[in-house]
Amino acid sequence: MIFEKEKIECDDVLELLGDYQDQELPLSLRARVASHLAQCPHCFEVERGYRMVVDLARELKEPPMPEGVRRRLREALNRRLGLRL
Ligand SMILES: [Zn+2]
Repeated sequence: MIFEKEKIECDDVLELLGDYQDQELPLSLRARVASHLAQCPHCFEVERGYRMVVDLARELKEPPMPEGVRRRLREALNRRLGLRL
């Protein structure tokens, strides 16, 4: 269980990134993700890319992104960065 880990790793962070962005993580976990991002350039880059997409979508001022679009964006990011979010 991720909460019990002493140290969270890149995989954990990437898995939590969506919730992190949506501010749906418990504060303690959120702080751990943030501190990982602060010291891991790789995850930092991924988070930044992810946030850009989210911000862009918000700026378009359109109705909330349909799940299909969101998924395709995520898949495109994953392909580009060689990850799975
Ligand atoms: Zn990392």
